[in-house]
Amino acid sequence: MIREKLNAVEQAVEASCAKAGRERGDVTLIAVSKTRPLSDLREAYEAGVRDFGENKVQELMDKIPEMPSDIRWHMIGHLQRNKVKYIVGKVAMIHSVDSLRLAEEISKEAVRKNTEVDILIEINVSGEESKYGVPVAETPGLVEQIALLPAIHIKGLMTIAPFTEDPEENRIFFRKLKQLSVDMGRKNIDNVTMAVLSMGMTGDYAVAIEEGATCVRVGTGIFGERHYNWQDE
Ligand SMILES: *Cc1c(COP(=O)(O)O)cnc(C)c1O
Repeated sequence: MIREKLNAVEQAVEASCAKAGRERGDVTLIAVSKTRPLSDLREAYEAGVRDFGENKVQELMDKIPEMPSDIRWHMIGHLQRNKVKYIVGKVAMIHSVDSLRLAEEISKEAVRKNTEVDILIEINVSGEESKYGVPVAETPGLVEQIALLPAIHIKGLMTIAPFTEDPEENRIFFRKLKQLSVDMGRKNIDNVTMAVLSMGMTGDYAVAIEEGATCVRVGTGIFGERHYNWQDE
């Protein structure tokens, strides 16, 4: 079941890459496994998935030791400073850094553990009030400050576009994030690259790829409707 869904998503990703004149290898498909039981993650792993996205620290800590060690775990949810210590050294990338104080905590923990952490800056491109993320206008200042911190490396930008029935409505936000990433890249800030653009979910990843996404975060499209008590299954 998961294998079939995954195949369908994979084919859609390939089609979007072809349409946009991009290489399939330029786009990482992250399987968003939040709320899913381990059996679902194992099925996806067996089908070849190595990039998994989770949005809760506790769930990550429960799942990581149960799964093979060649998985790249992506923290894609809002992160509280007091929980940073649990995931530094365990995740491949933190997609959701949206304040200097959070970045400072990650940096401090990375130094303490003698490791390095790759992060993305989460941007609120749509200007929706309820969303986390840095306003576009504040991004250059924040990136410049975070770039000075030890043991933390900005690899690009991430956004969560509004929920919509019509993915075309989000094209403008993806385009805006891409433009911001190009503008930031041109600044040539030490310790900052803009290689990663994490945008697009089940409803709109095709449009996101056309607009330059290098990571798409797909949950429902791979696993079906979400389970909310993954530990009970
Ligand atoms: C849940 C989640 C996703 C995946 O959403 P789907 O619509 O199920 O694909 C992607 N990104 C973030 C940040 C999420 O929290």
